Amino acid sequence: MVHGGRPGYSDGRRPVNPPLVRASTVDFSSVAEMKEAQRLGASGEQAFTYGIHGTPTTFALESLITELEGGAGTCLYSSGLEAISAVFLGFLRPGDHLLVVDTVYSPVRRLLDRFLAERDIQYDFYSPREADLGRLIRKETRMIYTETPGSVSMELQDIDAIAQLARQHGEMIVACDNTWASGYCFRPLEHGADLSIVAGTKYLSGHSDVMIGSVTATEQRYSTLHSTHELLGFSASPDDCALTLRGARTLHIRYPAHAERALQVAQWLEGHDAVVAVHYPALPSSPDHPLWLSQYEGAAGLFTMELYDVDTQRVTSFLDQLKLFGRGASWGGFESLALPCPIAESRCVDDWEKRGALVRLHIGLEDPLDLINDLAQALAAAGCRTR
Ligand SMILES: *Cc1c(COP(=O)(O)O)cnc(C)c1O
Repeated sequence: MVHGGRPGYSDGRRPVNPPLVRASTVDFSSVAEMKEAQRLGASGEQAFTYGIHGTPTTFALESLITELEGGAGTCLYSSGLEAISAVFLGFLRPGDHLLVVDTVYSPVRRLLDRFLAERDIQYDFYSPREADLGRLIRKETRMIYTETPGSVSMELQDIDAIAQLARQHGEMIVACDNTWASGYCFRPLEHGADLSIVAGTKYLSGHSDVMIGSVTATEQRYSTLHSTHELLGFSASPDDCALTLRGARTLHIRYPAHAERALQVAQWLEGHDAVVAVHYPALPSSPDHPLWLSQYEGAAGLFTMELYDVDTQRVTSFLDQLKLFGRGASWGGFESLALPCPIAESRCVDDWEKRGALVRLHIGLEDPLDLINDLAQALAAAGCRTR
């Protein structure tokens, strides 16, 4: 994280950070220079030819993420959701079918339903607890799209097993949303996935002031990823890349600091009598804990608490009375956040209907005892039902 994507020495010196290069036009000293740069760019190399194809700043971030994720190459996008769209647009054709984990980041459901379905790309959701994924594979199935752990309910996926199944079916692609791990504590490509997607909006930039997304591919998949990026005109702003590089330099310090605080808060919540369960693979009580221990080198500071209470007014009052936690979407910044997550209506495989109210917490870099006190006072003040 400290040395990746840094500029080389020239004239015996270098700036510590890659310079922020903003550009549309690149002015070449000769047509021959221009042609050579364009040839390199067309072959998938990082070539500074025109703003939309990247500048030295965006290339530095690409290189850092490629190293972090252990891939052959990375493309950058203006958001995590755009990165996901790029994977579908680049790797699927009309008539294809894909399997999507039921716990997927919920805007992806809308993308499938309101965009891909109209273009004759069919899909089925599968339960994150599905024991026989193979039974859902059709001859048209071209991709398994997964996210681990799943949004809100936090079930882990065994990427090794999914990749092994995909390989038994020829050309099938495994794409994994790796935002929770952000390449820090889990690298899907090392477990057989073809594509790893990270919303750098979260931990990589880490300060809640950037929107950015990345897809890192294996050698086999990189040329399709890269050519789609060029064909469709995707790009990320060099300013946002520079901010993300700045954030990424401390990922390995921030990430475990979030996890350490999150575990302390999660364990306290588990013992609170207004709480049914805390969904977090880093907790020994989690059904995913053994898989997490065997495949992960850490945890994000993001988990979900399930309350006994289902009364929307009292749950809302609990959220409104939090003083240190903000109320908002996204996560991965230095600050703590709470978000009500009524997932029952958006899940179509697993039934969340008769469960308690779910509140997703992002544990920021505040003192964990202050966060615990804040949760305690808000639960008491709202009068949330207890067991
Ligand atoms: C936030 C998020 C995204 C989307 O990222 P944006 O940059 O907000 O578009 C995708 N996947 C997961 C798991 C996320 O949490």
